[in-house]
Amino acid sequence: MKTNDLYEMTISEASLLLARKEISSVELTKSVIGRIQQVEPKVKGFLHINEVDAIASAERADKRIQSGDFTPMTGIPGVIKDNMCMTGVPTTCASKILENFVPPYTATAVQKLIDSGAVLVGKANMDEFAMGSSTENSAFHPTHNPWDLQRVPGGSSGGSAAIVSAGESLFALGSDTGGSIRQPAAFCGVVGMKPTYGLVSRYGLIAFASSLDQIGPVGKNVMDSAMILNVISGYDPMDSTSLRSLENNNTDYTASITEGVSGMKIGVIKEMFGDWVDAPVSDAVMKAVSQFEDMGATVDWDVSLPSTKYAMAAYYILAPSEASSNLARYDGVKYGYSWDGEGSMWEGMENTRGIGFGPEVKRRIFLGTYALSAGYYDAYYKKAQEVRTLIKSEFEEAFKKYDILVTPTTPTLPFKLGAKLSDPLEMYRSDLCTIPANIAGIPAISLVCGFSEGLPIGLHLMGGALSEEKLLRTAYSFEQATNWHDRTPKI
Ligand code: GLN
Repeated sequence: MKTNDLYEMTISEASLLLARKEISSVELTKSVIGRIQQVEPKVKGFLHINEVDAIASAERADKRIQSGDFTPMTGIPGVIKDNMCMTGVPTTCASKILENFVPPYTATAVQKLIDSGAVLVGKANMDEFAMGSSTENSAFHPTHNPWDLQRVPGGSSGGSAAIVSAGESLFALGSDTGGSIRQPAAFCGVVGMKPTYGLVSRYGLIAFASSLDQIGPVGKNVMDSAMILNVISGYDPMDSTSLRSLENNNTDYTASITEGVSGMKIGVIKEMFGDWVDAPVSDAVMKAVSQFEDMGATVDWDVSLPSTKYAMAAYYILAPSEASSNLARYDGVKYGYSWDGEGSMWEGMENTRGIGFGPEVKRRIFLGTYALSAGYYDAYYKKAQEVRTLIKSEFEEAFKKYDILVTPTTPTLPFKLGAKLSDPLEMYRSDLCTIPANIAGIPAISLVCGFSEGLPIGLHLMGGALSEEKLLRTAYSFEQATNWHDRTPKI
């Protein structure tokens, strides 16, 4: 392999060569930086690039490898979505209100990567405060889909997915509140996983909707995603929603990944295959399900989870309600942008928030404030919580019968930049299939299961709470039996 091709490697390939000292992390990191210089003007996946720091941490990684004190992630270049805090590195959430914010602390998931010796190259673009499905809500610039630069990469972790797809990093972290890791992974033809709620610490993740937010891996394939999850998962006393049961848990998510799907029961959720799903998408997903049958799984093609069709409606009450409360802290007093005109405290706050937040963020704050207000709380917020309980219990029942449930990741192929910007409801529909997993707190993964018009299609697998090993094993078997994940975009 030529040195300038190193950026094309997966984590497992690079990790092996690093351990054998056949390549160095500095060489690998320089190759990734070269690739960034080559394609980033077209992809625009980054908000911040740390070239100098990246080389310095690659040098430290090489020393660790020389001394024999290293992990499978030591020396591997990666990227962090720009809503995760990193001491001394700008963290903007793609918002003007945090444009100059430099956090004094590091998110636990990011710290775990640093401790493992991963080389963090930069911060990825996203929809402002993770609200959106196309990365067009970034206050700075949109990101382009590496498979077709006229199209969106999905969102809100569109920067993370586009960067991995374009070879500008070997992996990335994203965050997923209603689909923001899985939907862009599907649009960019990479693997994206939302772990069980509480498996990965949210400490240092800038809050959108705290009961739904979860950090997860974006990788070139399933094995890489498992390797990333190995590092970032685990109990964290700094996050009150982190699962205590994981305190002494050292699960290796790669250990049982090759065990196959023979004997597994797989269910297809019929409510997630309406006429609103494009034909090439449902065809590819159905073919993928047949593939599982060929590999020895039993398939029930007609599983009904009737309440999942209300998941999106419930989400657009719950998520904005939590956001309206979480975003109250951006008042121009504590940190972030502060309007410096003449006026009262109230005018100061109004102008700070009026100028600092973009239109989608304001829409969510309005929605949430309305849903939580006296007189409407019972009709909206409480009702949505009840729907949430119903959806959760339907999944619990279903997972007594099935190991894995299948849906498309997205109803459509990646759409053109600008196509859905003027119609928020159309944009919201991009997450119809991914939202139920956040509502239920269960793990889910998206991987490529086909192409149409040269654009990737995502297969969406969900498992019961803490069934990550089974989920990864199922996804891995599919990947081994197909070669979709080997394709890379020509940029
Ligand atoms: N697209 C959804 C939204 O805008 C989900 C976002 C996310 O998962 N962060 O709310």
